[in-house]
Amino acid sequence: MKKKLAPHLIAVLLLGFTLLGAITTYKRISKQEEIIAESAHRQVIREIVNRMGTYENVLLQTRSMFYVTKEVDRREFAQYVKKLEILKNYPGIQGIGFALGVKPNEINLHELRIRKEVPSYRVWPEGRREIYFPIIYLEPQDWRNQRAQGYDMFSEPNRQQAMRRAIEEDAAILSDPVELVQETEEDPQIGFLMYVPVYSRDEAYETKQERMDEVVGLVYSPFRARDLFEQIMKNLPDLAVDVEVRFAGKTLFNRVAVSKSNRQHGIRSDLELAGKTWEVTTFPLPGLYPGSESKIPILILIFGFLLTGVVFFFLLRLRHQTEELEERSQTLQQIQDATRILSSKLELKEVLQSLTDIGLELSKAEFGAFFYNTIDEKGESLMLYTLSGVDRSKFEKFPMPRNTAVFAPTFGGETLLSSDITKDSRFGKNTPYNGLPEGHLPVKSYLAVAVKSKSGEAIGALFYGHSTAGCFTERHKDLIEGLSQQAAIAIDNATLFQNAQRAIATREEFLNIASHELKTPITSMMIQYQSAERMIKKGIDKVFSEESVKKRVGISLRQLDKMLKLIEEMLDSSRISLGKFEVKMEVFDIRQMTKELIERYEEQFRARNISVVTDLGSEENVEYLGDEYRLEQVFSNLLNNAIKYGLDAPVEIHLRWSEKDIQFSVKDNGQGISEENLPKIFERYERLVSSTNVSGLGLGLYISKNIVEAHRGEIKVESGPGKGSVFTVILPR
Ligand code: ADP
Repeated sequence: MKKKLAPHLIAVLLLGFTLLGAITTYKRISKQEEIIAESAHRQVIREIVNRMGTYENVLLQTRSMFYVTKEVDRREFAQYVKKLEILKNYPGIQGIGFALGVKPNEINLHELRIRKEVPSYRVWPEGRREIYFPIIYLEPQDWRNQRAQGYDMFSEPNRQQAMRRAIEEDAAILSDPVELVQETEEDPQIGFLMYVPVYSRDEAYETKQERMDEVVGLVYSPFRARDLFEQIMKNLPDLAVDVEVRFAGKTLFNRVAVSKSNRQHGIRSDLELAGKTWEVTTFPLPGLYPGSESKIPILILIFGFLLTGVVFFFLLRLRHQTEELEERSQTLQQIQDATRILSSKLELKEVLQSLTDIGLELSKAEFGAFFYNTIDEKGESLMLYTLSGVDRSKFEKFPMPRNTAVFAPTFGGETLLSSDITKDSRFGKNTPYNGLPEGHLPVKSYLAVAVKSKSGEAIGALFYGHSTAGCFTERHKDLIEGLSQQAAIAIDNATLFQNAQRAIATREEFLNIASHELKTPITSMMIQYQSAERMIKKGIDKVFSEESVKKRVGISLRQLDKMLKLIEEMLDSSRISLGKFEVKMEVFDIRQMTKELIERYEEQFRARNISVVTDLGSEENVEYLGDEYRLEQVFSNLLNNAIKYGLDAPVEIHLRWSEKDIQFSVKDNGQGISEENLPKIFERYERLVSSTNVSGLGLGLYISKNIVEAHRGEIKVESGPGKGSVFTVILPR
C-alpha cells in the first residue's frame, strides 16, 4: 500500500516545495523592492524639502537686504535678484518680489511716487480697504511678472491668510494653492506663494500685534507648481517611482497619469513645509514593485510543476514496471502451479477437465471450454470437449466449433483476445445463427488460445468467456498461453500413459489366450495317454493294437503341430517387434507351392464338409522371387481363417498372375467383419471373437501383413457383417 502511494506522495511533496519556493522568492523580491521603493520615496521627500528650504533661505536672504539697506530702491532690488541668478540656480521659482504695506490714507501718494518709476502703475483691485500690500518689485521683469505690478495680494483672502500668518509668526509661510495673477491662458497651472515678512527693524517682536504694527512689507516668491516639481524631478531622473503631490485638497503635481505605476503600493508622507502640510505619495513603477511583477516566482512555479510532472511520470513508469515484473513472476508461479497439478493427473479426461478448470481460475472467466481434436479407436478424427463454469446442456445443441470465422484462426494456431467478441467483424458470419445461437452463453470478453502438439499443429483450443466486456488483459492471455504449452505436454503424457495401459491390458489378455491355446492340445494329449495308462493297468491288450497306436500317434502329432505353430507365431511376433524378422529370397514356383498347400488342406475341408472351388489358372510354372516358406505361411493362415470363421460355407480360392504381379485370394461366406473392425484385424493380438469360441492368438494376420510387406506387397480385405470376407494378397513381381 505504501509503495503504491509513493509517486503521488512525492509529487505532492514536490509541488509543496515548489509552492514554498515560489512564495518565499516572491516575498523576498517583494521585500527588496519595497526597500528600493522606500528609499526612492525618501529621496523624493529629501529633494522637495531641500528645494523648498533653499527657496525659504533665498527669501530670508532677500529680507536681510531690506534690513541692511533701509530704503531698497527698484534698481538695487533688480540688481540683487539678477545676481542671485535665480532661474539658473533655483529653477522652478517664478521670481522674487516685494509687496509694500500701504495705509488707506497714503494710497494716492504711494501711487504717485511709484508712477515716477513705472508710469502705468496703479494699485489694484480698486476699492477701499484697511491696509494694502501692492506688489512694487517683482524680478525678473518678464511679461508674466509684469502683469502682477500693483496687485494688492492682501485683497485676496487666501493670500491674505498666509501673509497674516507670516507677519504674525515672523516666519516663511506658504499660501494655499491659488491662481497666480501672472497666469494667462497659455499653459495654465496651479500656483502658490511663499511669504517672508519685513519689519521696520530687525528685531524679535514679542506679540502678534507688535509685529502687525511694525511690518513694512513682505518679500515673496510665486511658484507655478508643475514647473517647480518638474524641475525638482529633473534631479531624480533614475527613480523608479511616480510622484503625486497634493496640498489643501488640490493636486499640485502628478507624474502618475503618464505611467502605469502600481497605485496600490503607494507610500505617502505628510511634509510640514513653511507652515503648510503637503501630501507626497510615491508609486513604484512597473517591474520594480511589488514582486508580482517579477517573473522569477512564476518561473520557479513552472519549472517546479514541470519537474514534478517529469518525476511523477518517471515514478509512475517505474512503479508500473515493478508491478509488471511482479505480475510476470506471479504468472510464472501460477503456470508452475498449474503444471504441478496437471502432471499429477494421468487420466486424459481428468487432465482435460483440470486444464479447463485451471484456465478458468487463471483467466477469471465465467465460462471455459477446452476442445480437443483426437483420433478415436476407429481411427476417426473426433472432437472432445470439457467445460468449466457452465452446464454441459448449454453446449448440447451448439455445433462443434471448427470452421466458423471466429474459431478458424484459433484452430489455425492463433490466439484471439477480444474485449467484446460481439463487435468483432468475424463474429456472426456463421449461418444459420448469425451470431449467438439461441440459449447460447452471453459471451462478450473472449479469449481463445490454441493448444499445439510438439510438432506445432493445433490439437485443440482453450476458450474462455465473460458476459462483461473488457475482462481479459494481456496478462490473462499470457497465462492461458503458458497453460496451453503445459497442456500439450500433459495431454501427451496422458495419451502415452493411456496407450501403455492399453498395451499392458492387451498383453495380459494375450498371455491368457496363449496359455489357454497351449493348454488345449496338451490336455487333449493327456486324455489320450491317461486312458491308455488305465487300459494297460487293467491288462487290456487292445491298447497295443496297431490301430489304437496309430490313432493315438496321429492325434498327438496333430496337437504337437498345433503347439508348434502357436509357438512359431509367438516367436515370429516377437521377432517382428524386435526388428529381427527376415525373409530369404529364392526363385520358386508359386503355383506349385499353392497347389500343394491346398492339397494338404483338402482333408480338413472334407472333414468339415466345406465345398471348395479352386482356380489356379493354366498349368504352367509361375516363377517368383520370394521366401517360399513365409508365403506358404501367409496363404495357409488365410485358408485356416476361412475354415475357422467361414461357418463351413463354400470357399473360393484363386491364384492369378500377370507380368506385373501375383494375386492370391481366399473368399469365404462366413460371418464377415464389420466396417469398424476392419482396420484392427491386422494388428497384434487383435481378436474379434472371444477366446473360448475359436482358437487363435490374434497374431496370424499381423505376421502375414509383415511378411507381405517384406515382399513389397499388400494384403487387402473386403468384408461386411454376414457377407463373408475376401482376403487378397498382391505380390509385385
Ligand atoms: P486368429 O489367430 O485369432 O485367427 P488372425 O490374425 O488370423 O488371428 O485374425 C485376427 C482376427 O480377424 C480373428 O480373430 C477374427 O476375428 C478376424 N478374422 C480373420 N479372418 C476372418 C474371416 N475370414 N472371417 C471373419 N473374421 C476373420
